[in-house]
Amino acid sequence: MTTIPGALDGGAAPRCPECGFQIFNRRYPKCESCGALLPETIVYSPAERHALRVAEEERALESARHESSAVDATPASLDDALVSAMMGLTQP
Ligand SMILES: [Zn+2]
Repeated sequence: MTTIPGALDGGAAPRCPECGFQIFNRRYPKCESCGALLPETIVYSPAERHALRVAEEERALESARHESSAVDATPASLDDALVSAMMGLTQP
């Protein structure tokens, strides 16, 4: 039994009503196993898919920004904290 991180959406994955295939990609309107059209309760609506895509793009931009800023910001502030801690320890 393998678990796929991210696929567990707070519960079991929905299944195709035609063949019982587990639906992991809820953005695809058809069953990936038998090709049956999936009910709207399983797949995301076009509006939801659009919102997801926008959110994902924003998240990607955000994490890229965080990574680049973390590289030059975090070590410096860590060093400062260490230096002031050392100073406090070595002072009589
Ligand atoms: Zn199916």
